[in-house]
Amino acid sequence: MGLTGIQILGKLPKKNCKECGFPTCMAFAMKVAAGQAEITACPYVDPKVVEEIAEATAPPIRTVKIGGGDYTYSLGGETVLFRHEKRFENPPLLGTYIKTSMDEAEINRRIELYKKLSWDRVGITLRPDVVMLEGDGDLSKFELLVKRIREELPHLAIVISGSSEAIKRGISLCGDFKPLIYAATSQNFEEITVLAEETKTPFVISAESLDELSELSDRALKKGLKDFVLDPGSKGLRELFEDLIIIRRAAIKKRYKPFGFPVIVFPYRYTEDYLLENSIAGIFVAKYASLMILSDLRAEALFNLLVERMNIFTDPQKPLVVEEGIYPVNGPDEWSPVVITCNFALTYFIVNGEIEGSRVPTWLLIKNTDGLSVLTAWAAGKFGADTIAEFVKRCGIEGKIKHKKLTIPGYLAGIKGELEEELPGWEILVGPREASGLPSFLKKLSAELREQAKAA
Ligand code: SF4
Repeated sequence: MGLTGIQILGKLPKKNCKECGFPTCMAFAMKVAAGQAEITACPYVDPKVVEEIAEATAPPIRTVKIGGGDYTYSLGGETVLFRHEKRFENPPLLGTYIKTSMDEAEINRRIELYKKLSWDRVGITLRPDVVMLEGDGDLSKFELLVKRIREELPHLAIVISGSSEAIKRGISLCGDFKPLIYAATSQNFEEITVLAEETKTPFVISAESLDELSELSDRALKKGLKDFVLDPGSKGLRELFEDLIIIRRAAIKKRYKPFGFPVIVFPYRYTEDYLLENSIAGIFVAKYASLMILSDLRAEALFNLLVERMNIFTDPQKPLVVEEGIYPVNGPDEWSPVVITCNFALTYFIVNGEIEGSRVPTWLLIKNTDGLSVLTAWAAGKFGADTIAEFVKRCGIEGKIKHKKLTIPGYLAGIKGELEEELPGWEILVGPREASGLPSFLKKLSAELREQAKAA
């Protein structure tokens, strides 16, 4: 069980020196107990106590790190069964496999897909982030493949599988960039765990059943190994679903150590239909994969999985926001319309999409409303005439345009007069209530501004 704040306080030096960034040792202890601060932030705690507290306050699903440097990926680290209880911590890595038995054309196709498939959504880059490299036969071809992936796609986390010689060479070629070894089984358990220990490389334990998985995981723990991932090897889809829930529940509710690790899932093992495979993957994004290997990458299916992953792994207590600022859409100039809205990501995404679709060059001003939508932000005093005027004066839009027409959301029609008082010289236009009305509104406004430019 985890330690309480009071228990942690008892192990602190109680200097109240604030070096940890908290006003008192008590405040720090409470944050450590809640998992919101690291015990190592206090420089005066004995290393043995650090270890003891770190162990006691660690999440019930261990965080296993793979990769390295800017591309270090955390797997697991989960603390709850359901997202609404707190939040899910580390989104599952998604990708496909490349095998040395594939012909060059297929290997190239897959590598090119990794380079091509990338989307920006609400300021976040969505792309596949893991590749499983299978060295099945030709070792020199496998070495070339590992080198190529590291050079051409340095952001990709790597799962290495195949013969023990292929795995050894793969680990060595990755250097400080830690791959994930696939896999220790009941047949090769000693060999793979010794290799993982010697090279300090995380590995997967793959079993034929939950009982066997529990037994192998326990063996690994008794050897002092802590960085591994579980593959329950479930035979059918229903069994897989049940196994993942049993693993998560046992780890979180019972603190059952052998199951307190991230889980890898291979959706293609359960169907030959790619769309069905992606639907299966969609289930396990939510419950409870930490890493998923698909049979292929197809934009139409992958995009949906990545968006689902982004949505499920956002913190439900913090609205998804975009940064405050001026967003040029469709290449605006000095006589382009200026539109303002809030920084709730969904609003931004919809408004930006409608403006892009209209093809009207437009300056989109995004005002920080702490992620609240237009009317909620207005009601909370974060999107009223005074705050909008202050933002318009400070953001620098006046240096980019030669007119003074500002379009506000239709729902804020009531603040038009007040805003004109706050922004002398500006004409405040009331835009449509729904973003879908923006294209026609902007086309008309843009034509008027062009006439004004000619006359100027
Ligand atoms: Fe207390 Fe340590 Fe924080 Fe100082 S740094 S206030 S001793 S917890």
